Amino acid sequence: MIIILTASASDRNRRDIIENLEARGFGVHLSEGVEKTVIGVIGAMDEQKAQIAEQFEALPFVERCIPISQPYKLVGRSFRPEGSTVNVRGVVIGGKQAVVMAGPCTVETEAQILESARAVKKAGAHILRGGAYKPSTSPYSFHGHGVDALKMLAAARAETGLPIITEVMDARDLETVCEYADILQIGTRNAQNYTLLRAVGECRTPVMLKRGMSAKLEEWLQAAEYIASGGNYNIMLCERGIRTFETYTRNTFDINAIPALKELTHLPVIADPSHGTGKASLVSAVTRAAVAAGADGVIVEVHPHPEKALKDGAQSLTPAVFDQLMADLRLLAPVVGRSV
Ligand code: PEP
Ligand code: MN
Repeated sequence: MIIILTASASDRNRRDIIENLEARGFGVHLSEGVEKTVIGVIGAMDEQKAQIAEQFEALPFVERCIPISQPYKLVGRSFRPEGSTVNVRGVVIGGKQAVVMAGPCTVETEAQILESARAVKKAGAHILRGGAYKPSTSPYSFHGHGVDALKMLAAARAETGLPIITEVMDARDLETVCEYADILQIGTRNAQNYTLLRAVGECRTPVMLKRGMSAKLEEWLQAAEYIASGGNYNIMLCERGIRTFETYTRNTFDINAIPALKELTHLPVIADPSHGTGKASLVSAVTRAAVAAGADGVIVEVHPHPEKALKDGAQSLTPAVFDQLMADLRLLAPVVGRSV
């Protein structure tokens, strides 16, 4: 359940409520919005919720107590109705600006990631992507350069100033990846790896949680709830396409998910049209559609030489095509009340 305090509630009032709930053995999460403070209560049974509501609604600084029936509470829209933002080295995700993350699927060499970083920065991207630990369907294919790649990403950040997003696949690598990453990416194959989700919930680095390739929105939000329940509220959700009967495209990008998530959760929503389509020729159109549908940001694979890419070359944009896409987004975004 959630408890909404009145705008005039003091720090003392807030502490009283929290201590009261903790003394009853409940988990307590605090959301301090611009106007209102919302307290999330975890672990209360239905009859306890009714009792808490009755007792607390008598207090002058409690506006309302709402029992939440969804299996996710902290990431549910009502916990933070105005929406949440994630601040990554000064880049705000979930605000007026639609944020663009771009770069190669995989960090291949220092020269490749530097060339990519310079190109996407010049085009106007805000964040650099690049995989150091790569999930692969085959155990025999390339799995990324690991720590060496993290160092190359850090060098690209040092030169361009772009924050970096990179995937963490294994809880055992988390500490190392956190030393370098500004945003941790959880990939589709790990989207329901609860050990990893709990581990990233313990750290405070922002997380972009991709949708499991066959996850329903509710399952996806419950996965996000794992992270939030550990105290890491810096979460973004990334729609990257789902498995359907269609094979012409690599996945089916679920455009519905964007406005649906806006109803269900306060978390910023990112779109990944590269994995959503698997075809470079389709990426720009689907990126534009995602921004039009209300995405808070996009993540796009860009490679200086897609024909030589170690991974995902077929869906990678050239810097020239990406440059045109950015120009299109700058025209489009104001139509939906945003900037790029
Ligand atoms: C990626 O971003 O390169 C990636 C592996 O994505 P996904 O987990 O969505 O397949
Ligand atoms: Mn990829």
